[in-house]
Amino acid sequence: MENKKHKFATKCVHAGEELDLQGGIHIPLYNHSTFGFKTTRDLLDVVEGKKEGNLYTRYGLNPTIKAVEKKIAALEEGEAALAFSSGMAAEAALFLSQCKQGDHIICIGDVYGGTYELLESNLPSAGITTSFLLGNEINNLSNIIKPNTKIIFFETPTNPNLEVLDIQKITTIAKSKNILTAVDNTFASPVNQNPLLLSADIVIHSATKYLGGHSDLTGGFIIASKDIIESIWPWRKNLGQIMSPETAFLLARSLRTLHIRVKTQCETALKIAEFLSSHENVLKVNYPGLVEFEGHQTAKKQMKYFGAMLSFIYNGSAKKTADMVDKLKIFTIAASLGGVESLVTQPITTTHFSMLPEERERRGIKDGMVRISCGLEDADDLIEDLEQAMK
Ligand code: PLP
Repeated sequence: MENKKHKFATKCVHAGEELDLQGGIHIPLYNHSTFGFKTTRDLLDVVEGKKEGNLYTRYGLNPTIKAVEKKIAALEEGEAALAFSSGMAAEAALFLSQCKQGDHIICIGDVYGGTYELLESNLPSAGITTSFLLGNEINNLSNIIKPNTKIIFFETPTNPNLEVLDIQKITTIAKSKNILTAVDNTFASPVNQNPLLLSADIVIHSATKYLGGHSDLTGGFIIASKDIIESIWPWRKNLGQIMSPETAFLLARSLRTLHIRVKTQCETALKIAEFLSSHENVLKVNYPGLVEFEGHQTAKKQMKYFGAMLSFIYNGSAKKTADMVDKLKIFTIAASLGGVESLVTQPITTTHFSMLPEERERRGIKDGMVRISCGLEDADDLIEDLEQAMK
């Protein structure tokens, strides 16, 4: 059921869904690798693109995968979407499809360690180079754009400093130079912001995080105009990066509750951020919802709530911080985010482990930095847990 006028919660439940042939109330799991036809003409109609149909799962021509793509496209206010086996698969397909040998990418602000590695270490061997700009160097953006710059890529809020980048400001500069803007919306989720409504061209997601929401699947999405999606599709097909039908089915189920999960997680994050701000052993709290936080005004402008991720600098060495983290009883020490269980990590041990210490220092990723992904436990229990660990 598709209706552009529906509000976000209604889209979460109904977008992309149809009664199935037996009257089942949503698209079932079609776990098939291939689909049959009555006649050769029927098959050719699908192969030649004359009729919509199901053909072969690796191509994405599978009803369960198509249904979840329609749902996320509706939630991100995009024309179309592609589902991938992981967030990194989506990013790789994005860069390889939009850039050729000799092209250039600009990456702004902190990004997930894997993204940094892909841009810094892998893509140069395909002749694609990247310039990295810190979030506070945006005024320099126009100066580093080259004639061969094809994509400006960034996350907001960023990982792990939770810096808030002004989406509209960046897309305005990019549009004036005919450059595509791609936003990794994993941290915010479509509950908080829709970059396409702020003139971005492409949204990417690690669906492994909030979209899945239960730490039990790995997936990714790209959402964009039909034309851009058509240009990425052959890359997904031939690199073999399709999301499995089981994952697509699980994801559709998760997305039906996305709005209530993320809203509650954001409310908890604000309470925890306020608690940490007043704690004597905390030097700094990074959370866009705190009025005193640098990115608060921009966050207010472009986000609905303020996200469920936060980080803080503990007053101690890497070892003392690890000892504190080890004392937590409800939080699980883990690298990921976005699930119903609250997770905690020291970025220097996980997401930014492979980054050189000088580069970490330049980006303000301190030894005492702790990143929290707020889950769906009671906020008071989580605060009590932090309190006992920091005693
Ligand atoms: N983008 C962000 C912001 C992430 O945090 C991650 C993973 O942690 C990725 C992309 C990559 O996603 P995946 O692990 O699903 O490949």
